[in-house]
Amino acid sequence: MKFGGSSVNDSACIAKVADIIKAAAADNDVVVVVSAMRGVTDLLIEAATQSESGNQNCIAAILQEVRQRHESAAKALIQSIDKRQTIFRKIHELIQEADSLSREILLQRKLTLRARDSISGLGERLSAPLVAAALEVRGLRSQAIDATELIVTDSCHGSAEPYMDLTRDRCEALLRPLLMQGIIPVVTGFIAATVDGVPTTLGRNSSDYSGTIMGAALNANEVSLWTDVDGILTSDPRLVPSASSILEMSYDEASDLADLGAKVLHPKTLHALMQSGIPLSIRNTFAADRPGTKITPGGSSDAAGVKAAAVICDSALITVRASSVLETPDTLRRTLATLAALPVQIRLAPQSSSSKDAVCVVVSSNHAESAFEALRREFAHDLEREKLKHITLNPSVAVIALVGRNLRNAGEIVERVTAALYRDTVKIFGIAHPSPGSNISLVVAQQDLKSALAAVHRELQLDEPVR
Ligand code: ADP
Ligand code: ASP
Ligand code: MG
Repeated sequence: MKFGGSSVNDSACIAKVADIIKAAAADNDVVVVVSAMRGVTDLLIEAATQSESGNQNCIAAILQEVRQRHESAAKALIQSIDKRQTIFRKIHELIQEADSLSREILLQRKLTLRARDSISGLGERLSAPLVAAALEVRGLRSQAIDATELIVTDSCHGSAEPYMDLTRDRCEALLRPLLMQGIIPVVTGFIAATVDGVPTTLGRNSSDYSGTIMGAALNANEVSLWTDVDGILTSDPRLVPSASSILEMSYDEASDLADLGAKVLHPKTLHALMQSGIPLSIRNTFAADRPGTKITPGGSSDAAGVKAAAVICDSALITVRASSVLETPDTLRRTLATLAALPVQIRLAPQSSSSKDAVCVVVSSNHAESAFEALRREFAHDLEREKLKHITLNPSVAVIALVGRNLRNAGEIVERVTAALYRDTVKIFGIAHPSPGSNISLVVAQQDLKSALAAVHRELQLDEPVR
């Protein structure tokens, strides 16, 4: 059972989490994985960044805030003076560790990826003992464990990958005996370590992945990820308030949705389960009676069609318009080659909805200027000689990805959605539908995103509950 940042945000949330675990532990062996309290990882990274810039005062204020949030949760959760003292000592030790890491960065005026991993992982190391303590208060036996002891990774700091065989051995050696004694391990999400014990992290938002890695390593019956919404919804509810829960999905559908921007699942979450076929459920900590979403290798057998609309924001659209359709293949080749030489990832290469001779690429906003300039250099000569009509940059677009299974009628879906958006005066800049049956992506202006999603929902009836 993995609990995300909003599920362990304060003492009231942690109390709910402990109740949910207690209920599950009545019938099952449970291993818990926890994130840092919401916002704490950001604060720790901010402390590291400020250290690099030499802002000592800022660091003290940040660490004080982190300390205070954990101490006040501990006060509210734990009545026993002794137990509270133990937790307070632990919080103190970890804040000291953050402080000395910050000082080292400050002295060197350099924030390495390795130091960033060490400091950013402290949030999980602070929250795990609080959850374990809350379980003990409820009469359960529990132990907080750093995943640095369990998950063995390569040394790719900031996005490390696990070595599953080594991880499995460690989990068997350390966790199985605890489970046999009826002790509930509360393991830190997000962090891991190399074979030599150097701390690593699996990437931002990756505690979901920690959860599935642990589940696979222990060959669990099920992995459940507990969050602040009723499972996977047809869209991000912050953008579409009427979005409805999806009861069942396949691994592929859920993986696509995660890859295409649905924050509710880290993109690597399903990687760890692919071989084992272990079911994954997404549940709401604040409405534990609701079913949430169940993700199985094959999903529900019935449902073909669009299940959900994921969104990638912070994107820019670059259009390189050739002088004729005949020039388009060469323009495309040169565009891709130019961008391949830069540290720029192409998010999508949609077909322009306005002209056949245009090559379109969507890149992340922070790479937009450099990509645009590189293309202007590459095509400078062609622009001068009017072999190319123009290169334009739209700095603020969003990609809406329609995710589902067997979209054999994709042509019809595109037509319906295009007409619905047109009725709502939302312009579609580009459409990508890489192969028959696959997902469909639409590029719209960022400012039109909400109305575009509302139109998609209405047209494809995604708001209807229970699918
Ligand atoms: P946690 O801290 O529990 O890991 P996250 O904030 O990482 O939670 O993910 C949950 C959030 O993901 C939700 O609050 C919601 O705003 C967002 N989200 C984006 N797309 C979806 C979607 N399709 N279904 C559900 N939630 C989504
Ligand atoms: N705490 C980590 C982060 O904020 C991991 C997670 O919450 O999943 O990125
Ligand atoms: Mg998350």
